[in-house]
Amino acid sequence: MPYLFDHLDAVRQVLTASPFGLITDIDGTVSEIAPCPEEARVSPVCREQLAILTKRLELVAAISGRPALDAKEMIGVDGIVYVGNNGLEQWHDGVMLFVEGVKEYTPKVTAVLDELRGSLTTEGISFENKGVALSVHYRRSPDRESARNCILEKIEASSIARDFRIQEGKMVVELRPPVEVNKATAVEALVKSYNLRGVIYVGDDISDVDAFGVMHQEIFKGLAVGVISEETPQQLEKKADFTLNGVADVERFLTWLAGVAPAPTRPHP
Ligand SMILES: [Mg+2]
Repeated sequence: MPYLFDHLDAVRQVLTASPFGLITDIDGTVSEIAPCPEEARVSPVCREQLAILTKRLELVAAISGRPALDAKEMIGVDGIVYVGNNGLEQWHDGVMLFVEGVKEYTPKVTAVLDELRGSLTTEGISFENKGVALSVHYRRSPDRESARNCILEKIEASSIARDFRIQEGKMVVELRPPVEVNKATAVEALVKSYNLRGVIYVGDDISDVDAFGVMHQEIFKGLAVGVISEETPQQLEKKADFTLNGVADVERFLTWLAGVAPAPTRPHP
């Protein structure tokens, strides 16, 4: 796919649509991937430029597989809409909203976590209780493939885990409530509630490919930007309109965007 910085005119063209929104993934996009999630840090340049963009665009949203409160903690910019657990929850301006029927999964997450902790003792596996979802990470495992197989086997064998939907990401297996929610539905909801006519979406992983599809609807001008790294899934490169190389390029892009983004057409809600 074409490199974004070779096609800035096309980006400028999308930016003429108003109201305009920027939606960005966090890990691998504005934050380097770390060996474990709690070690990841958002790039200070990205943070600074996102803060500027909240004043210039109708919407700046950060969307992540992390819980919304984690996302908020990591970026720490007021005015951003933080969409957590790949769309299951959203935090904005002190208010947390859950997708219907999802909050009830909190005790089931605790139960399945207790069970899997007992049965999964493979080296390098770590658990992340995300409130309404559970992530099992195997990035630190010496044999990632067998760690992944082991995780999937134990999940298969668990009766509590059957109540969840299984979704895989970069070195992670996730158990989520079985609702039709992903980054695509979350992005659609944002576009609708902010009445956006133009959107740029930036992301680096499989879950972002879902959202890329939303960018190509005819009701608004959308641009899907894929952040390429060693671990980038092939679908991402195929489905992106333009690519950036790693977090360093995202810093450069957000800086450029903050410089050229038009002021909002009306005061922020
Ligand atoms: Mg990511």
